[in-house]
Amino acid sequence: MSLRGRVLALLVGLVLVTQVATSLAVLRATERDAQTGAVESLRAAGRVFDRLLADREARLQSTVEILVSDFGLKRAVATSDLPTIESVLENHGDRIAADAALMLALDGRVAAAFPPGALAAGLPDGLHPLLEAAERRDGATGLILLGGAPHQIVVVPIKAPLRIGWVCMGFRLDDALAAELRELTGIEVSFWGRAEGARAAAVASTLASPEREALQGALAADELAAFEERPRLLPGSDSLTLSIPLAGRDVVRIGAVLQTSLHAALASYRELRAELILLFAAGVVLALGGALATARGITRPVNQLAAVARRIAAGDYLAEVEVRSNDELGVLASSFRAMQKAIAEREAEILHRASHDGLTGLPNRTVVEAGLESILRERDPSHPLEVGIVDLERLKDINSALGQEAGDSVLRAVASRLSQGVGGSGFVARFGGDEFLVALEARDGDGCQALLRAIEAPIRAEAALVRLRASAGFARFPEDGSAPADLLSRAELALARGKAEGARLSRYQQGSEEANQRRIAILSALERAIAADALCLHYQPKVSLATGRVVGVEALVRWTDPELGPMRPDEFVALAEQAGNVRALTDWVLREALAQQRRWAVRGIDLTVAVNLSALDLCDRSLPAILSGMLLAAGVPSARFGVEVTESAVMADPELGFRLLQDLRERGIAVAIDDFGTGHSSLAQLKTLPADTLKIDKAFISGLREGTADEVIVRSAIALAHMRGLEVVAEGVEDAACQAMLARFHCDAVQGYGISRPLPAADLPAWLDRYTKNDDEEPT
Ligand code: C2E
Ligand code: MG
Ligand code: MG
Repeated sequence: MSLRGRVLALLVGLVLVTQVATSLAVLRATERDAQTGAVESLRAAGRVFDRLLADREARLQSTVEILVSDFGLKRAVATSDLPTIESVLENHGDRIAADAALMLALDGRVAAAFPPGALAAGLPDGLHPLLEAAERRDGATGLILLGGAPHQIVVVPIKAPLRIGWVCMGFRLDDALAAELRELTGIEVSFWGRAEGARAAAVASTLASPEREALQGALAADELAAFEERPRLLPGSDSLTLSIPLAGRDVVRIGAVLQTSLHAALASYRELRAELILLFAAGVVLALGGALATARGITRPVNQLAAVARRIAAGDYLAEVEVRSNDELGVLASSFRAMQKAIAEREAEILHRASHDGLTGLPNRTVVEAGLESILRERDPSHPLEVGIVDLERLKDINSALGQEAGDSVLRAVASRLSQGVGGSGFVARFGGDEFLVALEARDGDGCQALLRAIEAPIRAEAALVRLRASAGFARFPEDGSAPADLLSRAELALARGKAEGARLSRYQQGSEEANQRRIAILSALERAIAADALCLHYQPKVSLATGRVVGVEALVRWTDPELGPMRPDEFVALAEQAGNVRALTDWVLREALAQQRRWAVRGIDLTVAVNLSALDLCDRSLPAILSGMLLAAGVPSARFGVEVTESAVMADPELGFRLLQDLRERGIAVAIDDFGTGHSSLAQLKTLPADTLKIDKAFISGLREGTADEVIVRSAIALAHMRGLEVVAEGVEDAACQAMLARFHCDAVQGYGISRPLPAADLPAWLDRYTKNDDEEPT
């Protein structure tokens, strides 16, 4: 049920219940009061009625006594003058409206009677006791049935001066008397009598038919013969009835029935009831109206608030809360408004935090695409836009040297310089760490360069002046792409390529994406190949120029991918190095080379094997220990194992590299500096390089002719190396002339196609056999 329905039901229900309860209680009490009142008034009327009858008797008695004191009567009685007696009786009887008059002798004989036939049936039953009482008290009154009708009888002695007879006068209890009594008591009065052998019957009554008939019926059925204290309702009538005895106790009886209409008595009750019903109806209508208004007053604002709450839940915080009352709902509404505002602010804050970098306040990576999207959507393609990724280079150093705070303020300064640099139409975001995204108008002048210069200008961080280095990669809208994701990935590619090539600012070049995809494909295929043992090693012999003997072999990795085809080691090794996972390859090569060495040793072929290491391998300090462990496990003496590292790999982190090489040498593993002459190091660095052997790069060897610059370089390199106590190996020796020159220069060993191409392990023993035989036949 709705709230409104419940409020309505509650209020109307309450009013109904209280109204009904009070009305019923009032009505019941009133009805009881009315009934008791009727009963009481009937009883009171009964007492008044008794009193009135007694008064009448007394009055009749004194009237009769006055009549009896009439001298003429006394004389007529004394002289037994019957005609006179009769006439006196008639006259006096008429005067006081008696219905019957008798003159009785002292012995009770009827001397005269009026009307003359009044005593035709003999002396009535009740007269004797009356006469006895009159004798005792000198007069008496009472009720008797006379001719079947109840009469009030007065018995008075005739005295002259002694008692000479009796006068009895009878007054009928007739309709007139009943009417008179009703006049005085306000009650319906009926008299009834029951003669011997007859049924009781009403003889006088104020009732009109049909009540009169009802009464007759009740009397005939003997229902009222038993006199009662309490009034009661006659069956089939609404009359409250009280039956009171007047005379007689046995068969002959005289009584009166006093009645009052209950209907009349309850008239005031009915009036009250009607009024109460009216009041009740009015109350219900009022309650209904009031309840409706109250329910509306409560539910309308509640419904409004609920509607607003639903809109808030749907993310609409602008919905107007219209409730503005001064009551609790008003307070609730204003709390609602406050809550709505707070939620809106909090959501804005959360959204801002989720989409912006806390340090610089710039948009973060999550919203870059959307931000660029909206800029590009509105952009006219005839006005190109540069989208670039800027990478700060020395931030880590600043953080560790000056502290995090300084790093933060540098970042903030960079953010503000970039924002200024890109101008109003541009866009800057922070990618996290030390990377920023910029989008700026592509102008003829070089805006991108200016941006880099702006960042590289000195920045004050804490107390120090800091100079950053930055590099950036740019892609241009619309030539290089029109979707934000394309532009971003291309700018990233440009940045990576620039870094690889040592350029600070680099632009995306068409096709570099395909190259990148190929790089990714190679890397994942390489990973699979290592896991599946799908690589193999070829071995290229090194030969001593002094003895002509094979002094060792260099292990060179070979890989043919089923899809990509044969892969060049320098390509995939460099890629693995860039991706940072060259270590897996190195591990595989080390294990395979040692296993092969072991297999050869079993066959009596005792060869020193050298393996190439990458720059990244030199960063792993645990490598020497691991390698020692592997040698031990394979049963290969460390003097039979060597590593080759390029000088640029060593120079990437000279301190670490030097320490690692030293460690390897201390473990008896020979270290050769590979590709010597191609890196940045100079001959002067030879002094400090912890190595046993120097391998002069094939670039100097393949073009080695008399009188060339290469000759000078190679010759002095060999001399210098020897001065440092290093052995020299020349790689890329392709012909005998070259080999002879190197021998003249006292180069220690040679390696190259002129001696042998790198060979599969299986081919090496046969080659060795052939080579040794040739060597034996043609000693150098
Ligand atoms: P590198 O260590 O200088 O290896 C010598 C390279 O010169 C080999 O190329 C070899 O085949 C080639 N070569 C040998 N003699 C001649 C010659 O007379 N003329 C010419 N033109 N070339 C000759 P490869 O096998 O293609 O290897 C290239 C580079 O890849 C290697 O240069 C080395 O830096 C790297 N590499 C090869 N295998 C591995 C490996 O297992 N691990 C690592 N980290 N790098 C490896
Ligand atoms: Mg090598
Ligand atoms: Mg080399």
